[in-house]
Amino acid sequence: MAEATIPYGRKTQKAPAVKEVHIVWMTAGLGCDGDSVAITGATQPSIEDVLLGAIPGLPKVHLHNPVLAYENGDDFMKYWYLAEAGQLDPFVLVVEGSIPNEKIKAEGYWAALGTNKKTGQPITTCEWIDRLSPRALAVVAIGTCATYGGIHAMAGNPTGCMGLADYLGWKWKSNAGIPIVCVPGCPVQPDNFMETLLYLLYQAAGLAPMIPLDEALRPTWLFGKTTHVGCDRGSYFEQGDFAKEYGSPKCLVQLGCKGPVVQCNVPKRGWMAGIGGCPNVGGICIGCTMPGFPDKFMPFMDPQPGVRFYTSMMGLLYGKAIRALRRVAINHNDQEPKWRHPRPELTTGYQPTFGPR
Ligand code: SF4
Ligand code: SF4
Repeated sequence: MAEATIPYGRKTQKAPAVKEVHIVWMTAGLGCDGDSVAITGATQPSIEDVLLGAIPGLPKVHLHNPVLAYENGDDFMKYWYLAEAGQLDPFVLVVEGSIPNEKIKAEGYWAALGTNKKTGQPITTCEWIDRLSPRALAVVAIGTCATYGGIHAMAGNPTGCMGLADYLGWKWKSNAGIPIVCVPGCPVQPDNFMETLLYLLYQAAGLAPMIPLDEALRPTWLFGKTTHVGCDRGSYFEQGDFAKEYGSPKCLVQLGCKGPVVQCNVPKRGWMAGIGGCPNVGGICIGCTMPGFPDKFMPFMDPQPGVRFYTSMMGLLYGKAIRALRRVAINHNDQEPKWRHPRPELTTGYQPTFGPR
């Protein structure tokens, strides 16, 4: 195209530092693929937005996820071998599902993907992590199983499974200097994951600083506050007004909600497009984003120790009084001021500043 025909506004466009990024997504941990399914509900951005390049200035994205891929079998697996051989660089490795401990048994395997052509044996999930993580631009653990072990790693499990940071080490960094990025949730909140992925694309494009993570390797802007802080039943809690049965619009803490001690943004954000959630729509928070999940939150439907006592005290000593005082104030505010009337005199208190009084 001749230079004269190029719109002036094109000057605002800059090529990303990295033109293309592959996402090698392993669902072969101990998991249920619930996170892969969950992200199809994302809208900010949607998976389609990212793959079709809706946001200009970012690398083109190629996704290799077995739940969503067109390819099957060996055609699909070829990306794993290309990644291992350094022919897919740069790529982001996404791991879904807990990482089993393959060292605790004499034979067999807990989890695997593909077949070793030389031995005819399955290639374990752990072996794929060992092969691919040293080459990855970034490694992302999606869902609470991959991040911290989750439900499969609960007491009494036979696999000795764990989260990715337990496996690779909490101080592990990619060859680009990026720590493991953990996006927990069981399943992950769709936009939480897509937003994190988008951040990494901005970082790869040279448009964002190092992703900010907390001590549990979670993006700080998503997991920096408690469920309770973002819950719209907080005002019931604050005035000591607690639900006694499911279906009530009041605070659910006495029914087992763990929101005050859980870091999660779901009630604030909703589940899909602002709709849904957990305690905000009547389901107790069971702490599914937390490293201590599920064992430290069970039995789910029992309040944590001490909660029933202190909330009963709140309800009795403070809640009743504050609710009564507020009722008086609400009744007062429900009345219109007395100068709003159709009588032939003005009683608003208006004083003209000039002319006859
Ligand atoms: S329902 Fe749970 S998260 Fe919401 S205000 Fe009550 S304790 Fe907090
Ligand atoms: S609000 Fe609680 S149960 Fe719901 S997603 Fe967050 S941590 Fe999990």
